[in-house]
Amino acid sequence: MQDAIEFLKQQIRTVPDWPEPGVQFRDITPLLANPRAFRVLIDQFVHRYFDTRPDVIAGLDARGFIIGSVLAYELNVGFVPIRKKGKLPFTTVQETYELEYGSATVEMHTDAVKAGDRVLLIDDLIATGGTMLAGKRLLERLGASVIEGAVIVDLPELGGSAKIREQGLPVFALVDFQ
Ligand code: AMP
Repeated sequence: MQDAIEFLKQQIRTVPDWPEPGVQFRDITPLLANPRAFRVLIDQFVHRYFDTRPDVIAGLDARGFIIGSVLAYELNVGFVPIRKKGKLPFTTVQETYELEYGSATVEMHTDAVKAGDRVLLIDDLIATGGTMLAGKRLLERLGASVIEGAVIVDLPELGGSAKIREQGLPVFALVDFQ
């Protein structure tokens, strides 16, 4: 397990000062491009959620779609996208959250989940936690219960995962970067 995590961590590229000065961007594209690493990654999540299988996997725009859809396929459950504003054609619910400068809005289709569905929320990374908490609020407004927030990377120093846990949502992260 620890070897697998270390192997995955080595596949993540750090790009300094992108998209703006001071940000260390943790780029998962080399991990996705390596077939062995991609398989190890998905196997880690399959192993974690095989027994507690959610009813639905909700992926956060956009890298959450890549891992969430493969995991949903492997677990034989449905996948729903939580998208940035303006991309979904049917009726939606929306949540807005604060960014360092300005705000962002995410939305999902009103029929994407049913009341009582047990949903796994997935993204590539947690920084401040705002994106995942907005996803949680959307799902809860539709009556779903979110069982866990899963990511490849947590940046614990930014406090996002702690904030999410304080709001009652367990967080599972494969890799931490300090
Ligand atoms: P946050 O809402 O602050 O937790 O930010 C999480 C979202 O922003 C995720 O969808 C990430 O893909 C993206 N993100 C934020 N910071 C980084 C970073 N340092 N490296 C890569 N992606 C990031």
